[in-house]
Amino acid sequence: MSSPPIIKNEEDRERLFGGRGHTGLSNLGNTCFMNTVLQCISKSFDFTEFMLCASKTEPMRRRYRIELDRKGIEKTTSGYRLTGNDVENLQKKLVICMDKLLFAMYDMNNVVAPRTIHDCIQHLSIKMGRIEFVGHGQKDAEEFYGFLMEQLHQGLCHKVRFTITGKPKNIYDKMALQAKDSWKRYFESEYSNIIENFYGQEYSVLTCPKCGYESGTFQPMNRVHLPVPRDTRSSVSLDDCFQLYNKGETLDSENTWHCEGCKSDVMANKRLSIWEKPNFMVVHLKRFTSDGRKINTLVNFPFYNCNIEKYCVGYGRDGIKYDLYGIANHGGDTGGGHYYAYCLDYDGLWREYNDSAVMLRANSEDPESLNKLITNKAYMLFYKKRV
Ligand SMILES: [Zn+2]
Repeated sequence: MSSPPIIKNEEDRERLFGGRGHTGLSNLGNTCFMNTVLQCISKSFDFTEFMLCASKTEPMRRRYRIELDRKGIEKTTSGYRLTGNDVENLQKKLVICMDKLLFAMYDMNNVVAPRTIHDCIQHLSIKMGRIEFVGHGQKDAEEFYGFLMEQLHQGLCHKVRFTITGKPKNIYDKMALQAKDSWKRYFESEYSNIIENFYGQEYSVLTCPKCGYESGTFQPMNRVHLPVPRDTRSSVSLDDCFQLYNKGETLDSENTWHCEGCKSDVMANKRLSIWEKPNFMVVHLKRFTSDGRKINTLVNFPFYNCNIEKYCVGYGRDGIKYDLYGIANHGGDTGGGHYYAYCLDYDGLWREYNDSAVMLRANSEDPESLNKLITNKAYMLFYKKRV
């Protein structure tokens, strides 16, 4: 086997991604939700690079394999032995399946059958009792994305040391300390490239309607759930959705909160904002309602310079911007329908990845062609932070 590529500059990256990855994924029986998510993840180049490439210091091992080795996988001459069928082994196996899939997708522009990763996900969801992903019925792509990210993270994670220093001088310092503390609690014993690339932190404030008492907490998140207004206007903007997210909602009677201020159970108002901004920000447009309907409002989203400053709190929010590189679309109604992706490839062209079919759709330099990708089928948006 030849040694894995090492990326030192743009030319190396061009060799790895340029003209490649225009690969369809065959449908294994209602697996368009999986194919669509996998296509969008494969265009998250920092992550794909981590999976496929070696580092300068260890040129013979892929970077992800160094993390797997740390977890103590039994090595054989032909690769890795993954005995046993427990959750932990299946999570490591899932990482290896992801590598094999990405390798195949960027090896040649053809059609790949994602059978091994699908089997692994099936075994894992059965083992974990996540029955919503078992079998061949249609699944929810954004729930699946959350599950997949969590499992890949578990397969890769290892211990790290976080040191928190400095004395808080003002309210933001205090919040920063609280945020870091929470991050440390969640990830000190389990950190991974998935966290580094796809996770951020949400700040959630609960307010008591009776006494006005407020309580703020930090939560890790791998996607932002945005409400979609049921609207009579012909379209709304992504900003409108972010505003709803930020404005907050009143929790229902099934989710009452015990207020520390007036010591009673109340229907609190819950307001969200983003604290730690992820490198890859996945936006979920909440089109499916709890009463089983689908909101078909057209949401106008930006391809470049998506500014979320207003919906962030804390340091480093000034001028924070994102660029779009993937759209997971859902056509049809609840309980059925079909998923397909629009993805930005390394060559600057947007392609439709519709199971095994790959079609050229737009040029990133031609705004008119990009506009055609904005439809009311858009369900998940994949954004990358501008550096
Ligand atoms: Zn209260």
